[in-house]
Amino acid sequence: MAVIGAGPAGLMAAEALQAGGAQVEVFDAMPSAGRKFLLAGRGGLNLTHSESIEPFLDRFGAGRASLEPLIRAFSPEHLRDWAAGLGVATFVGSSGRVFPVDMKAAPLLRAWLHRLREPAAAGGGPGVRFHMRHRWLGWADDGSLRFDAPGGERRERFAATVLALGGASWARLGSDGAWVPLLRGRGVTLAPLRPANCGFDVAPTAPGRAGWSEHLRTRFAGQPIKPVVLSWVDEAGHCHSQQGEFVLTETGIEGSLVYAFSARLRDAIEARGTAAITLDLLPAHSAEQVLAEVRRPRGSRSLSTHLKSRLGVQGLKMALLHELLTPEQLADTATLARSLKALPLSLAAPRPIDEAISTAGGVRFDAVDANLMLRDVPGVFCAGEMLDWEAPTGGYLLTASFATGRAAGQGALAWLRDCRPVS
Ligand SMILES: Cc1cc2nc3c(=O)[nH]c(=O)nc-3n(C[C@H](O)[C@H](O)[C@H](O)COP(=O)(O)OP(=O)(O)OC[C@H]3O[C@@H](n4cnc5c(N)ncnc54)[C@H](O)[C@@H]3O)c2cc1C
Repeated sequence: MAVIGAGPAGLMAAEALQAGGAQVEVFDAMPSAGRKFLLAGRGGLNLTHSESIEPFLDRFGAGRASLEPLIRAFSPEHLRDWAAGLGVATFVGSSGRVFPVDMKAAPLLRAWLHRLREPAAAGGGPGVRFHMRHRWLGWADDGSLRFDAPGGERRERFAATVLALGGASWARLGSDGAWVPLLRGRGVTLAPLRPANCGFDVAPTAPGRAGWSEHLRTRFAGQPIKPVVLSWVDEAGHCHSQQGEFVLTETGIEGSLVYAFSARLRDAIEARGTAAITLDLLPAHSAEQVLAEVRRPRGSRSLSTHLKSRLGVQGLKMALLHELLTPEQLADTATLARSLKALPLSLAAPRPIDEAISTAGGVRFDAVDANLMLRDVPGVFCAGEMLDWEAPTGGYLLTASFATGRAAGQGALAWLRDCRPVS
């Protein structure tokens, strides 16, 4: 059995296959396994989320129907138990997100790889064999898998294959989306790969600018803005608002609050060219309070000093007001007060997919059966981020990658058992 891709989805597929007694060969283009998983560990490794299963499943939007049976079979609770089985205790953070106690990915990955390679101690089947620096190139005419390997091209036939090749972000960690033409060439229907959980470039904030002003970029890029409420009105007129924080970048905005809206903003930009959001810079103050404070006589004090002393507006928040309002708007107390509660900002484009946390699009669920086997390529299964689903950050990405990896591995076992194909 072959598994191509040694990220969370591929390793989970390997584990499921191994548990069924299969000899598993894992191939990966990179020199070592789980590079993106290790990167996720730098942010504390948000493994999953503690909310109840219904809202959890809703986070997958249109992908919910396809993912639900797989996630119910390997739920956030199962995932925590599984981590505990590797000696990694988890805890629920204040936001409900679940992390390993040490907030690191490396110990978990190390223990997991060890158990996969040497399962005898854990009472499992044969050890998984890893073939790193093996880039999958597609299929040869006889159906064997082609790899660009250290000693030259290698071809090998397998009874079944699980593809867990990831999305197309952070290509330097291995997932580069180069599998798209390989699958399209076999007639597999794919949704275009698009950035998910991504930052955005702002539209020019004044005529003659490319985006932010030189002043804002050089003084404030990299700085967080918090607390702030981001609001966006959808085509049906419904207003979506959330409080949090984001970071000003050289060209726009990124960070957790932006990621929470990124799928909708990306789609809005695709449909209409830009997306308009508003920022409440003073979430703790009512509009009436803000207006009353702005209207207080300020004597000889500058506007900046006045806003700082009356409302605590300073630094990047003050700079954003100067960036996005004209001098006339700043001078008009009613407009200024309104803008402090709803500062309009226009977004022009999502950042390139390589910078995104995750990827939307990929192998469509109607191209695979309930066991995640490609309908057009019998014996080949798909798992993880290369499937066409997306979800916000919060542990949903890893949970679905693990769950689909497990389902693909078990699906491959069932297919071999039921179909007895000639390898
Ligand atoms: C900065 C960052 C932080 C993140 N933090 C979190 C988090 O805290 N919580 C969370 O839930 N998610 C997080 N994610 C997302 C999460 O890491 C991914 O969703 C998850 O790794 C996807 O797993 P996967 O196995 O499908 O793909 P990947 O982890 O991308 O693995 C795919 C593997 O396939 C290999 N591969 C690709 N093409 C080929 C080929 N042609 N031949 C051979 N091998 C190939 C790659 O080398 C790679 O090893 C984060 C992502 C980023 C970028």
